[in-house]
Amino acid sequence: GGSASASTIKQVKLERESELRIEVGNETPLKLRLLNGSAEIFGSELAPEMWLTFPPRLKFAVFTWYSATIEMDGATETDYTADETPMVSYVNVHAVLEGRRNRAKALSPNDSEASQGPRVIVVGPTDSGKSTLSRMLLSWAAKQGWKPTFVDLDIGQGSITVPGCIAATPIELPIDPVEGIPLEMPLVYFYGHTTPSNNVDLYKTLVNELAQMLETQFARNAESRAAGMVINTMGWIEGTGYEVIKSKPDDDVNADKLLLHAIDTFKANVVLVLGQEKLFSMLKAVAKSKPNVDVVKLQKSGGVVSRNAKYRQKSRGYRIREYFYGLANDLSPHSNIANFSDLLVYRIGGGPQAPRSALPIGADPIANPLRVTPVNIDRDLLHMVLAVSYAKEPDQILSSNVAGFIYITDIDIQRKKITYLAPSAGELPSKYLIMGTLTWLET
Ligand code: ADP
Repeated sequence: GGSASASTIKQVKLERESELRIEVGNETPLKLRLLNGSAEIFGSELAPEMWLTFPPRLKFAVFTWYSATIEMDGATETDYTADETPMVSYVNVHAVLEGRRNRAKALSPNDSEASQGPRVIVVGPTDSGKSTLSRMLLSWAAKQGWKPTFVDLDIGQGSITVPGCIAATPIELPIDPVEGIPLEMPLVYFYGHTTPSNNVDLYKTLVNELAQMLETQFARNAESRAAGMVINTMGWIEGTGYEVIKSKPDDDVNADKLLLHAIDTFKANVVLVLGQEKLFSMLKAVAKSKPNVDVVKLQKSGGVVSRNAKYRQKSRGYRIREYFYGLANDLSPHSNIANFSDLLVYRIGGGPQAPRSALPIGADPIANPLRVTPVNIDRDLLHMVLAVSYAKEPDQILSSNVAGFIYITDIDIQRKKITYLAPSAGELPSKYLIMGTLTWLET
């Protein structure tokens, strides 16, 4: 595929409750518009006749509840129509959530328990459509005037900001099918790695920080409290299920534990399980002791596209590129030069561990996973993506969210100068930078 000639205009007629599934070609964008009828992309309605331009490689579906004619202009990798989708079951979940929001709103905001809207957490294997379902639930809620909070715990393929972060942002409008989640002032915590096993304690600590911060915001804002949240998680459960993960020798790295930790920490009361029978029964069993938690099994959409590790790695790179340059190259990042002494780089946990023989008798050779240590600036920082912390003192780094990111493009050891790319010119909002293992090769 992908070799179709340029400017091939094509019309597709969609019947009731069917969808057009599209993978945009690898090289060129695809233009698409709604000619007549009504249709939506992941919960966000299309305006009639307006051309939308989708960037290369994007995978999405145009769904209609009634009927629609879609016009496409450009090459696709694949496009086909499907009339079997789980959309009715998804919108039924939305209707239940809507009922809970209305109930929460009607109750006194002074009763912080009862006036709390639904807190939904979406779980399942990687490539089960978790991000997509989260997005639909948010867009449908926003369309009805709610401002639900989107929480993204997926450090591998997050949809709010660069990989390696957990983040939250209020969704005030249906999510734009091309642009995605708006980047205005999200609340972001930098974990710095793309898998939780790098530092499970740090991951949990940041999840706690984010949850606490949201709790504080909800306490002041009855409207967002009633709207509730939708929490997207990472594909913690791989392949044949959580047993694979359970058999790992290091019990602390148990993926299901992180899942349960997230459910507890955010006080989730609706758990949506996508396409994983074993995970569903495990969570169902756990929920027996939690009468307020509903665990619901949902079918995975046949349209969800599986992405292998290499693709995932690549799309992380695209995501970082998008942060600095914009989706359509519409941002102009700025290259800055600083002295080594201007920037203070820190690392959390990790690092080379002293061998037991080098330590005093009785000392623990395992580095404290939450220790914040200064990093010497050297060539190792080249091509790293660092977070700019809001911390005012080093001891606040662990509990502080981040303002944004910089990308190290050159280290001049002789002249003690560091060159970095930042979203804009001028001084960084703070001199405290956090380093993890997140790298990028600008292409
Ligand atoms: P997960 O979050 O579980 O890893 P995603 O929701 O990101 O999975 O879905 C994986 C990919 O499949 C994404 O690129 C998404 O846009 C695409 N996708 C999901 N549902 C559909 C669909 N119905 N038709 C076409 N593509 C889809």
